[in-house]
Parts: sequence; C-alpha cells; structure tokens
Amino acid sequence: MAIIAFIGLGNMGGGMAANLAKAGHTVRAFDLSEDALAKADEAGCTRAATAAEAIKGVDAVVTMLPAGKHVASVYANDVFGNAAAGTLLIDCSTIDVATARSNAAAAADQGLVAVDAPVSGGIAAANAGTLTFMVGGSDLGFARAKAILSDMGKAVIHAGDNGAGQAAKICNNMILGATMVATCEALAMAQKLGLDPQSFYDIAAVSSGQSWSLTSYCPLPGVGPQSPADNGYQGGFSAALMLKDLRLAMEAAESVGANVPMGTRARELYEDYVANDEGHHDFSGIIETL
Ligand code: NAD
Repeated sequence: MAIIAFIGLGNMGGGMAANLAKAGHTVRAFDLSEDALAKADEAGCTRAATAAEAIKGVDAVVTMLPAGKHVASVYANDVFGNAAAGTLLIDCSTIDVATARSNAAAAADQGLVAVDAPVSGGIAAANAGTLTFMVGGSDLGFARAKAILSDMGKAVIHAGDNGAGQAAKICNNMILGATMVATCEALAMAQKLGLDPQSFYDIAAVSSGQSWSLTSYCPLPGVGPQSPADNGYQGGFSAALMLKDLRLAMEAAESVGANVPMGTRARELYEDYVANDEGHHDFSGIIETL
C-alpha cells in the first residue's frame, strides 16, 4: 500500500480519494474547500492543512483539479520542492494536451515521474470506483500509476507518451458531444414524424443508429435505462463540462490542423446552450432546444 497525496476533492476527487483510502492506502487529502476536506476526513483520508504538508514524504501525488492552469500552479508552487525525487505524479484532471506535456517535462526536470490520466465516467463512477483511466506517460510511469488507478477504476489503459491520455479523452468526448446532438435531433424528429418514442428507441437500439448516447444515456425521459433525462436533466455530466471538453478538442484540432466539422458544430451548439444559462443541466438536456 502506498502513501498518496490527493489534491482536489470536488465532485470527482472526493469519491476517488475515498476509494483509495478504502483500498488501504494512506491518503493525505488537500482542497481549498473546508467542506470537501471534512468529507474526505469522514471517508478515511487524513486532512492536510496545506498542499505542501500533504505532499512531503509521499510515494505519489494525485491531482483532480478544474483545468490546466490549476494543475500547473499546484505543480510549480506545491509539488516541486516538496515531493522527493522519484515521486509519481498522476494528474486525473481533464486539461489541454500542451499543458499536460509541459507539466510532465517540468516534473522530469525535478527528478519526478509524471503521467496524465484523465477519466471517463462521471460522479457515480468516481464514487463507485468504476472509472476508465486513459494514461499518457512512460512504460514505467504507467506501470506505477496502474497499481494506484486500479483501486479507483474498472479499466486503466496506456494511451501513449505524456499528453496521449488527454488527447484520447478529448477525442472521446468530441465523439460523445457530436453523437449526443445527433441522437437528440433524431429522437425529436422521429416524434414529429409521428413515431412513438419507445418504438423508435427499440428499433434504433438494435440498428445502425445505436450509440452510447442512445442506449446508455437516452436523452428522452421514460425511454431506455434510467438517465438524467428521468431526473429533469439534473446531475450527470454538466453541459458546462461538455463545453469545456469541446473547447479543448477544438484547441487541439487547431494545433495539429485536424478537420473537425462535426466537433465544431457540437461546440457551437453547446456554446449556445450554456450561454442560455443551461450550463448546470446535464448535457443531454440539449434535446430541449431541438
Ligand atoms: P470540482 O469543481 O467539483 O472540483 C475541483 C476541486 O478542486 C474543488 O473542490 C476545488 O476547491 C479544488 N481546487 C481548485 N484549486 C485548487 C488548489 N489550488 N488546491 C487544492 N484544491 C483546489 O470539479 P470536478 O467535477 O471534480 O472535476 C474535476 C476534473 O475532472 C475536471 O478537470 C473535470 O473536467 C474532470 N471530469 C469531471 C467529470 C464530472 O462528471 N464531474 C467527469 C470526467 C472528468
């Protein structure tokens, strides 16, 4: 069992840190929020007064923070100078590929081993320990990270070198954003054409229109498995976070000259949805605009 500093105990990090403690690791938890720290304490983690205090003497540092600038700042101000040589840094946040790579290079300069390990699966998967991790880093970094990530997820996959985990995450979520919009517009049109929603669902679910957005996360209430649609589009994966990921995808596409017309359109539609004060709703709620 390892001694692990866990920085960022929000919606996702709170459950992930709790699962590490449950698996028997010593977890030193830090967040800027007192409420998050109190929950981590209840879940069996040891609360630290500062990030530096959490990091000194650990085998690994896990970060689950909002964006690239937060991770870069925690690395520069708290991790570097406090983490011992050889400490493993695992960043599970969704951040831009360029910052993931520059963080890893800066870590290597300090004698530390960094991997990017963003996740698929929302808050329920974080709490249940069933996340999918896509990992960017060296073979050695991956092997060390897998031993820890396995206690928080159902799948840990090596995507390639540093930054490859983030690249896989944004490409995956670009598929998700575009297929959700396509699924929503087809479900709305089917009803306008007089089809019963359940009948159309039954057909598309076993036909070539099938997708995760349709059969695991159906955007229509009362059809398919239980999903945020059955709960007024509350909870789930917020439209604001989908927009964040689509913006990261567009940034990455531009940096390599990739042609992404569907991703671009999905980004535009989520820009409008979030601008309309719907960012807190689940991303499948975009069906209400179609
Ligand atoms: P969140 O806002 O709930 O949690 C972030 C936490 O980081 C907060 O508790 C905040 O206080 C803390 N924090 C910010 N700056 C800090 C600092 N300098 N030091 C210590 N703590 C600090 O966000 P979340 O929903 O848990 O998401 C975290 C990451 O996971 C994001 O990158 C997000 O894109 C990604 N993600 C989220 C989901 C989801 O469904 N929520 C799914 C997949 C990936």
